[in-house]
Amino acid sequence: MKLKKHLGQHLLVAKGVLERIVEFLELQEEDIVVEIGPGTGNLTKEILKKNFKELHLLEIDPQMVEILHKNIQEERVFIHKEDATKFNLCSLGENLKVVGNLPYNVASLILENTVFHHSCIPMAVYMLQKEVAEKIQKGASWLSTFVRTFYRVEYLMSLPARFFVPPPKVQSGLIRLSRREELPNLDLMDYKSFLVGLYSMRRKALKNKVPETILLKAGIDPMCRVETLEPDRVFMLYNMLQKNER
Ligand code: SAH
Repeated sequence: MKLKKHLGQHLLVAKGVLERIVEFLELQEEDIVVEIGPGTGNLTKEILKKNFKELHLLEIDPQMVEILHKNIQEERVFIHKEDATKFNLCSLGENLKVVGNLPYNVASLILENTVFHHSCIPMAVYMLQKEVAEKIQKGASWLSTFVRTFYRVEYLMSLPARFFVPPPKVQSGLIRLSRREELPNLDLMDYKSFLVGLYSMRRKALKNKVPETILLKAGIDPMCRVETLEPDRVFMLYNMLQKNER
């Protein structure tokens, strides 16, 4: 079988690692699991060793979908030929555990789609490019703040390229998102546009992006740059702006 580079097809073959990924999901009998980019089903087979209610596979490549149908015949499994960057995850259930060795070229879009569906996703475990995983966990970017407004992010482990077939050019990292107890109720599209604007032109002082009076009210130095702000502060700033507009 020829693997497609443009679909980020790097199969994870290390059994020990596959087992650990599944452990991090802490599966229970009533769980509905969603796997993104199952490929030939390496991780899928590991998940199937556990007790849970349903497993939904989202795979974009028709060739892989065919292989999955051949390889995996279980009542608990539902195979969907879908694009996980756009798929309405909440159509699968109210409390989903999402997992995947993600296609790295669209990993950010999948993270974004996860946040847009956080109301039905209490937990996600994703393998991504190490650099991206680290940035999401502790960096300053619109996406990192977007994710961390709704989820606690743990960096679980790093993985060298040789664990994959074919090996990717980059190292990998595994992260877990656990949804926060208290969730803000906001317009996600509006919040996203705010963040994208705030984190663009990073070298500019914040006062060029947000009215100085509001920054001062939020206890933020108008001369500082966006990357010095913790996600919590950014979220607070967004709230103050909202109130100001009302
Ligand atoms: N989980 C497998 C394969 C990982 S490779 C393993 O670890 O062995 C990434 C997989 O994601 C590939 O099968 C690829 O076809 C699939 N994929 C790529 N883009 C996708 C998208 N937008 N939506 C769903 N699946 C996608």
